[in-house]
Amino acid sequence: MKDCLFCKISNKEIDSNIVFESDNVLIFKDISPKAPVHLLAVPKEHISSILEIDKLDSRLLKELMEAISRVAMEMRLDKEGFRVVVNTGSGAGESVNHLHFHILGKRKFSWPPG
Ligand code: 5GP
Ligand code: ZN
Repeated sequence: MKDCLFCKISNKEIDSNIVFESDNVLIFKDISPKAPVHLLAVPKEHISSILEIDKLDSRLLKELMEAISRVAMEMRLDKEGFRVVVNTGSGAGESVNHLHFHILGKRKFSWPPG
Protein backbone atom coordinates (compact mmCIF):
# COMPACT_ATOMS: atom_id res chain seq x y z
CA MET A 1 0.00 0.00 0.00
CA LYS A 2 1.31 3.43 -0.95
CA ASP A 3 2.50 5.57 1.96
CA CYS A 4 2.45 2.70 4.46
CA LEU A 5 5.66 2.58 6.50
CA PHE A 6 5.64 -1.17 7.08
CA CYS A 7 4.83 -1.89 3.42
CA LYS A 8 7.91 0.19 2.53
CA ILE A 9 10.01 -1.72 5.08
CA SER A 10 8.64 -5.03 3.76
CA ASN A 11 9.53 -4.24 0.16
CA LYS A 12 12.93 -2.78 1.22
CA GLU A 13 12.16 0.77 0.10
CA ILE A 14 13.10 1.73 3.67
CA ASP A 15 16.00 0.09 5.51
CA SER A 16 15.44 -1.87 8.67
CA ASN A 17 17.40 -4.30 10.78
CA ILE A 18 15.88 -7.59 9.63
CA VAL A 19 16.18 -10.65 11.87
CA PHE A 20 13.87 -13.04 9.98
CA GLU A 21 12.34 -13.20 6.52
CA SER A 22 10.11 -15.73 4.78
CA ASP A 23 7.83 -15.51 1.75
CA ASN A 24 5.07 -13.69 3.58
CA VAL A 25 6.57 -12.54 6.89
CA LEU A 26 9.25 -10.09 8.00
CA ILE A 27 10.62 -9.57 11.51
CA PHE A 28 12.79 -6.53 12.15
CA LYS A 29 14.09 -4.49 15.09
CA ASP A 30 11.91 -1.69 16.41
CA ILE A 31 13.56 1.69 15.81
CA SER A 32 12.67 2.86 19.32
CA PRO A 33 13.07 -0.21 21.54
CA LYS A 34 11.05 -0.46 24.75
CA ALA A 35 13.00 -3.52 25.97
CA PRO A 36 16.50 -4.94 25.36
CA VAL A 37 14.85 -7.09 22.67
CA HIS A 38 12.07 -5.31 20.79
CA LEU A 39 11.13 -6.70 17.38
CA LEU A 40 8.18 -6.22 15.05
CA ALA A 41 6.68 -9.15 13.12
CA VAL A 42 4.58 -8.16 10.11
CA PRO A 43 2.86 -9.81 7.18
CA LYS A 44 4.53 -8.45 4.02
CA GLU A 45 1.10 -7.97 2.50
CA HIS A 46 -0.74 -4.88 3.71
CA ILE A 47 -3.25 -5.94 6.36
CA SER A 48 -4.42 -2.96 8.33
CA SER A 49 -5.20 -4.69 11.63
CA ILE A 50 -6.42 -7.92 13.28
CA LEU A 51 -9.90 -6.64 12.45
CA GLU A 52 -9.25 -7.23 8.73
CA ILE A 53 -10.17 -10.85 9.26
CA ASP A 54 -10.83 -11.67 5.58
CA LYS A 55 -7.13 -11.26 4.79
CA LEU A 56 -5.93 -13.28 7.79
CA ASP A 57 -6.09 -16.84 6.54
CA SER A 58 -4.88 -19.71 8.68
CA ARG A 59 -1.75 -20.30 6.59
CA LEU A 60 -0.57 -16.74 7.05
CA LEU A 61 -1.34 -16.81 10.77
CA LYS A 62 0.61 -20.04 11.14
CA GLU A 63 3.56 -18.56 9.24
CA LEU A 64 3.50 -15.49 11.50
CA MET A 65 3.31 -17.53 14.71
CA GLU A 66 6.01 -19.93 13.53
CA ALA A 67 8.30 -17.00 12.74
CA ILE A 68 7.67 -15.37 16.11
CA SER A 69 8.23 -18.65 17.92
CA ARG A 70 11.41 -19.41 15.99
CA VAL A 71 12.96 -15.98 16.62
CA ALA A 72 11.94 -16.07 20.30
CA MET A 73 13.69 -19.43 20.68
CA GLU A 74 16.77 -18.29 18.74
CA MET A 75 17.08 -15.26 21.01
CA ARG A 76 16.42 -17.44 24.06
CA LEU A 77 13.46 -15.34 25.14
CA ASP A 78 11.63 -18.47 26.26
CA LYS A 79 13.80 -18.88 29.36
CA GLU A 80 12.69 -15.72 31.19
CA GLY A 81 9.46 -15.19 29.29
CA PHE A 82 8.58 -12.63 26.70
CA ARG A 83 5.62 -10.61 25.56
CA VAL A 84 3.81 -10.41 22.20
CA VAL A 85 1.63 -7.33 21.85
CA VAL A 86 -0.77 -6.14 19.15
CA ASN A 87 -1.89 -2.58 19.78
CA THR A 88 -5.16 -2.04 17.93
CA GLY A 89 -6.53 1.46 17.55
CA SER A 90 -5.17 4.78 18.79
CA GLY A 91 -6.59 4.22 22.29
CA ALA A 92 -4.33 1.18 22.59
CA GLY A 93 -1.30 3.08 21.29
CA GLU A 94 -1.32 1.92 17.67
CA SER A 95 0.58 4.36 15.48
CA VAL A 96 1.18 2.37 12.25
CA ASN A 97 -1.88 0.96 10.49
CA HIS A 98 -0.24 -2.20 9.16
CA LEU A 99 -0.70 -5.27 11.35
CA HIS A 100 2.36 -5.80 13.55
CA PHE A 101 3.19 -7.99 16.51
CA HIS A 102 5.59 -6.44 19.02
CA ILE A 103 7.95 -9.07 20.45
CA LEU A 104 9.50 -7.81 23.69
CA GLY A 105 12.01 -9.60 25.85
CA LYS A 106 14.96 -9.55 28.25
CA ARG A 107 13.35 -7.44 30.93
CA LYS A 108 10.67 -7.75 33.63
CA PHE A 109 7.09 -7.02 32.55
CA SER A 110 4.27 -5.91 34.78
CA TRP A 111 0.65 -6.99 34.49
CA PRO A 112 -1.76 -5.54 33.57
CA PRO A 113 0.10 -3.51 30.94
CA GLY A 114 -0.25 0.29 31.20
P1 5GP B 1 2.49 0.80 17.39
O1 5GP B 1 2.71 2.09 18.16
O2 5GP B 1 1.70 1.07 16.13
O3 5GP B 1 1.95 -0.33 18.20
O4 5GP B 1 3.94 0.32 16.94
C1 5GP B 1 4.65 0.93 15.91
C2 5GP B 1 6.12 0.70 16.20
O5 5GP B 1 6.85 1.01 15.03
C3 5GP B 1 6.67 1.58 17.33
O6 5GP B 1 7.16 0.76 18.39
C4 5GP B 1 7.80 2.38 16.64
O7 5GP B 1 8.93 2.55 17.46
C5 5GP B 1 8.09 1.54 15.41
N1 5GP B 1 8.59 2.30 14.27
C6 5GP B 1 8.12 3.50 13.84
N2 5GP B 1 8.81 3.90 12.76
C7 5GP B 1 9.74 2.92 12.50
C8 5GP B 1 10.74 2.77 11.49
O8 5GP B 1 10.92 3.60 10.60
N3 5GP B 1 11.51 1.64 11.55
C9 5GP B 1 11.32 0.69 12.54
N4 5GP B 1 12.15 -0.36 12.51
N5 5GP B 1 10.38 0.81 13.48
C10 5GP B 1 9.59 1.91 13.47
ZN1 ZN C 1 1.24 -1.65 4.84
